[in-house]
Amino acid sequence: MQEVFVSGASGYIAQNIVKLLISKGYKVIGSVRSAAKGDQLKKDAGENFDYEIVENIGAPNAFDEALKKHPNVYAFLHTASPVAFATEDIANDIIKPAVEGTLNALKSVQKYGTNVKKVVITSSAAAKLDYQNIYNPDAAVVTEESWNPITDEEGLLNSMFGYFVSKRNAEKAAWEFVKTEDVKFTLNTIAPTLVIGPQAYASGVKETANFSVELLNGLLKSKPDSEMPVFDGNFVDVRDVAKLHLHAFESDVKDFKYLPITDYFSIQTCADIIREKFPSLRDTVPIGTPGAGKDVHTRYSPWDNKKTMAYLEDPISLEQSVVDTIDQIVNK
Ligand code: NAP
Repeated sequence: MQEVFVSGASGYIAQNIVKLLISKGYKVIGSVRSAAKGDQLKKDAGENFDYEIVENIGAPNAFDEALKKHPNVYAFLHTASPVAFATEDIANDIIKPAVEGTLNALKSVQKYGTNVKKVVITSSAAAKLDYQNIYNPDAAVVTEESWNPITDEEGLLNSMFGYFVSKRNAEKAAWEFVKTEDVKFTLNTIAPTLVIGPQAYASGVKETANFSVELLNGLLKSKPDSEMPVFDGNFVDVRDVAKLHLHAFESDVKDFKYLPITDYFSIQTCADIIREKFPSLRDTVPIGTPGAGKDVHTRYSPWDNKKTMAYLEDPISLEQSVVDTIDQIVNK
């Protein structure tokens, strides 16, 4: 049974990856920050899941012990990175763990991942998008090869900018590492845009969800006349993101920067879908201006990710993704 290591295994995207890996017959070793999170995931994922505790990916040699214990790991999927914005210390709470965590993962794999042939790093479209031109339909086309132009100094101005810097610098550091170091594995990176879709396991449905799913969950905590939150852009379903993580180590593809984006996204459109498909929620979800989300393409910056999409068959639509996400929350 082939072994795959998933860092940050208790995270939203990671659990979906773990679930898919287990369903395909892999043995999964996940790193989590506490035994409680590891035990819960083992309960959900089953006997082919084991965990190691890595409290802080930013600490030197963070993954050494975990990899020493699992010398048969074939693929290392590094998903862990801070996606939490309520901090005053952007440098130490967001940027440093993202960049150092990525380098620590690569260094540990280099030293102790004797059998690791493939490394996949979860980056973000935030590493690619020109943050000042996100809402400019005439902006340069964003592709797999783009890098956001934000400066490190701007990254300290607020935590969202910090996140943009954290993901770009972490991904760049990874590519630089494999270019300059003697490594026995190939690298692919995956930079999803906003990810929504159900939690892998019902136990993952919490009062407050992870950042991206909370955009939908938050609509269920509103009133019909509540102001519609403003969040336009694009999206990809979490199950498609999980599929691409498997593609990135199962296929022969190497040195590739996947950019999973499947459709436009607008909170207004999500609210319209929920109000139509879940009549019982009409007393909570904001009405806003129904239909106004349909012209999001006229407001949002363009992208071209044809190369990535060639590896993803039948991507899940926004409507399906919203319905499945809400269905899980309502029926938990
Ligand atoms: P998530 O649920 O918050 O998962 C993040 C994971 O990283 C959690 O397991 C978290 O552990 C762990 N982590 C964070 N900081 C850590 C640290 N210093 N030491 C050890 N572990 C740490 O968020 P997610 O949405 O699944 O994100 C997973 C990955 O996808 C991240 O790399 C993120 O940048 C990327 N991504 C997400 C989206 C999106 O829309 N969700 C879009 C593009 C890219 P705890 O939960 O225990 O703190």
